[in-house]
Amino acid sequence: MTDLILFWHRKDLRISDNLGLAQAVVRSPKVVGVFCLDPGILDRDDVAPARVAYLIGCLAELQQTYQERGGDFLILKGDPTVEIPNLADRLGAVAVAWNWDVEPYALQRDRALLAALKERGIAAQTQWDQLLHAPDEIRTGSGTPYTVYGPFWKNWQSRSKAAPAPTPDRLLPLTEAERAKTQAIPLPTARQLGYPWDGPWILEPGTAAARSRLETFCQRAIEAYDPDRNFPALEGTSGLSAALKFGAIGIREIWQASASALDHARSEEAINSIRTWQQELAWREFYQHVMYHFPELAKGAYRAPLKTFPWENNEALFEAWCNGQTGYPIVDAAMRQLNETGWMHNRCRMIVASFLTKDLIIDWRWGEKYFIQNLVDGDLSANNGGWQWSASSGMDPKPLRIFNPASQAQKFDAEGDYIRQWVPELRRLDTGSLLTGKITPIERRSLGYPAPIVDHKIQQERFKQLYKAQKA
Ligand SMILES: Cc1cc2nc3c(=O)[nH]c(=O)nc-3n(C[C@H](O)[C@H](O)[C@H](O)COP(=O)(O)OP(=O)(O)OC[C@H]3O[C@@H](n4cnc5c(N)ncnc54)[C@H](O)[C@@H]3O)c2cc1C
Repeated sequence: MTDLILFWHRKDLRISDNLGLAQAVVRSPKVVGVFCLDPGILDRDDVAPARVAYLIGCLAELQQTYQERGGDFLILKGDPTVEIPNLADRLGAVAVAWNWDVEPYALQRDRALLAALKERGIAAQTQWDQLLHAPDEIRTGSGTPYTVYGPFWKNWQSRSKAAPAPTPDRLLPLTEAERAKTQAIPLPTARQLGYPWDGPWILEPGTAAARSRLETFCQRAIEAYDPDRNFPALEGTSGLSAALKFGAIGIREIWQASASALDHARSEEAINSIRTWQQELAWREFYQHVMYHFPELAKGAYRAPLKTFPWENNEALFEAWCNGQTGYPIVDAAMRQLNETGWMHNRCRMIVASFLTKDLIIDWRWGEKYFIQNLVDGDLSANNGGWQWSASSGMDPKPLRIFNPASQAQKFDAEGDYIRQWVPELRRLDTGSLLTGKITPIERRSLGYPAPIVDHKIQQERFKQLYKAQKA
């Protein structure tokens, strides 16, 4: 009888370039894919409907891919540390395989699963798949984890990168008798899970969509990534963040595409642009490494002055920020893009995060949570890293950055196209006023656009004073 192995998919919703799956298939062709809808995640108060819809889209595609290869892909619901060993028992699996994750919740859960499997005498087979370099691979000369990106990048980029893992060709199916024992459920919709998403699909779910995005990006935009990545009105970035978060595409496949673009680059500018994009991939890895080594980051500030910062946490100001009603056009455009599409451009993420923390003096963790509640690509490590960077609380050698919304708009949305797209009531305003926000109270009233909720100049001074006092 052929050995049966369960492969538990989590943030690796694909069969191509999947290290754990490729390793399982070497051991036996009878690998059964499984995904467990975990109430420990789905019942939290920070689940974004767009993200659940994206997840379900990926699972639907993955189920079909397994079937096309002759195999089975099962959906379970419940605590994975109970459901996965029970399924393994019912099917007489010899092993359960999966790829590690860096998040504190996932690590605790996976360690509990290891113990449960050991108790039942079922082997566990694990791999690091979602990173080009596993957390313990990149360390300083003295063996400690990096806490600053610059030296991390230097070390990380100097190492050779693995080629994509082979895709399983054929898989053996379950027998009818085995299938009857699985207790698998049909794949629910996002609405059935309580997260209806009626917004537009700005990032299409699944491997095919991610591949097509990667190809288009490498053909059309990667060589101009720097500077185009800074302009939110342009399609200058890859749009791969949700695919990377859920592993709809493998990181080695992405790296290979960027390396090939580098080989074909025709100018110094193109080479620099591609290197800049690779640095963003390294930022993703940096934040995952630090989350793995310093799980306390998930709870609060890394830097001492911000650990006990006297945040003012005005709820009315927070609500105005969430709803894109601050009276600062670039901030409101960005928040409305997030609310309507589940995605926000990186430049705008930095602007609104700076505005929440430095202008409204609201705890960055409120913004971090709001992002996770809405982002299709919401990811603990990247989001926490981005927020701590913006709040001056994180691993950043030059922490005190304050963005001026007007200068950011003038520099990065010089024609006002982005603001006009997302704040339609300001569409007819002249570009100068749109960017500087110098709009008279009468005009604001007639356009139905709110007065600025705070004064940037005053607030940035106040923040600096508070920061200075904390440091002292
Ligand atoms: C306050 C704040 C919150 C953020 N929250 C998230 C989040 O929840 N999930 C998320 O994936 N990214 C987050 N980012 C990082 C970044 O904004 C997004 O990854 C990027 O906008 C996604 O668009 P893209 O795929 O077109 O990126 P590209 O510019 O094409 O970059 C390619 C990939 O590199 C990674 N990447 C790029 N920039 C960063 C970065 N600064 N940090 C970590 N990884 C990066 C992403 O996986 C991205 O898909 C956040 C940034 C800030 C400032």
